[in-house]
Amino acid sequence: MAYIKGEDRMQITLFPEAVDDYISTDNPVRVIEAFVNSLYMKDLGFQKAEPKNTGRPPYDPRDLLKLYLYGYLNRVRSSRRLETEAGRNLELLWLLRKLKPDFKTIADFRKDNPKALKGVFKQFTLLCKDWDLYGKEVIAIDGSKFRASNSKRNNYNQKKLQRHLKYIDEKINGYFNELDSNDQDEADIHIPSAEEIQRRIEELESRKGKYTAMKQHMEQTGATEVSTTDPDARLMAVNNNGVEVSYNVQTAVDQKHKLVVDSEVINNPADQGQLSNMAKQAKEVLEVDQIKVLADKGYYSTNDLIECEKNHIETYVAKQRFTGNIANTDFQADKFQYDQEQDVYLCPAKEILYPGRIREVNGVKYRTYKNYRACKGCPLKDQCTKAQKGRTISRNLAQPLLDEIDRRTKENRKLYVQRQMIVEHPYGTVKRGLGYSYFLTRGLVSVNTENKLHMLAYNMRRVINILGVEEIVKRLASA
Ligand code: SF4
Repeated sequence: MAYIKGEDRMQITLFPEAVDDYISTDNPVRVIEAFVNSLYMKDLGFQKAEPKNTGRPPYDPRDLLKLYLYGYLNRVRSSRRLETEAGRNLELLWLLRKLKPDFKTIADFRKDNPKALKGVFKQFTLLCKDWDLYGKEVIAIDGSKFRASNSKRNNYNQKKLQRHLKYIDEKINGYFNELDSNDQDEADIHIPSAEEIQRRIEELESRKGKYTAMKQHMEQTGATEVSTTDPDARLMAVNNNGVEVSYNVQTAVDQKHKLVVDSEVINNPADQGQLSNMAKQAKEVLEVDQIKVLADKGYYSTNDLIECEKNHIETYVAKQRFTGNIANTDFQADKFQYDQEQDVYLCPAKEILYPGRIREVNGVKYRTYKNYRACKGCPLKDQCTKAQKGRTISRNLAQPLLDEIDRRTKENRKLYVQRQMIVEHPYGTVKRGLGYSYFLTRGLVSVNTENKLHMLAYNMRRVINILGVEEIVKRLASA
């Protein structure tokens, strides 16, 4: 039996008459075309948004933006690969009308327009808002580590530098000894010449100079580490995988369709201190008076929770458990009962601890409670405290608010457990689905831009799945 045969390559009627015939009406590139054409490039701040009358004509930033959006939606991020695809990919031939910018132009476009590209992400979120795709009631906030363009080898802390410097000193001393002994007896073994040894010493001295300069820089600036390829990247713990030089991506995701509302990259490994920032930004984007925010215990921070409350952000955050240095669970702080009316604590020995002075730790105010006289003769003292005078309990002045948040988080368990499902959706898609678990660019500003492109690609994919290409193109045309 014969095989199915392809067309004769020399046949002139092989292709349809227009490239457009190859791009079906439900092809996602039509969304990119319609979306980019709907943007006001000059208002967004794109360079060369208006062509000059003189000089060599540049590429229209719209065309370069279309190329990037296509690339990020289709797992093509590098400028060299985008250049190649622009010359051979039929969808890109259609989208760019056979334009083929070189990789340098493509790379410069991303580098030169960080603010404008962030603006494009925001424009798409505003569209999602107008199209009622955000529920605007509940958002989940979480952070995830994305590898930076900096290997672990090129990340140094004081300890690592000391180790390298010690090794170099030992090596140099060894070479000096070799120069002194100048033992030529064993003819079979290669004995480096004096010039060779001198050259190796110089190489080691040069490395030593580099490490010493890093050490001095750290001492002067108080920095705890230095990354030499991407100076903004930091060594961070990553899930089940030890440590990597990474960035911490913070993202706020809406519950309704799991669309990203906002996302920001930081180079601090801790999520603590990011809650109110992210929640306020999300609230501003969604233009709502109040919102519910779900976050894990890594975000439990008094000042952040107070700030959220002030801004009408109802937080649901799991409580951090601080056991202190008390090994016996019967004497940990939660076993001391607070009497709100009397403003005193009742300790496990049924003694009353009275309020004392207020102290401030990391910007959080606490009142201390103690009764040293009772502690002095207490038979349980050895189990309760190691302090000679007796036990002191510190009560956060914002404790009533913290108690309220703990109560509401516990009572709304069904809502709280959705946190992971909501926020893991974009991370799972971006990292596993699209394969963007690392950044190609370097420096916090460029990495932030790249992250917006990751999240924009995620949001676009999601909206295409929800509404369909033809509906989006229709809506954009009538906007
Ligand atoms: S040591 Fe003091 S605080 Fe602790 S149980 Fe005894 S009386 Fe109470």
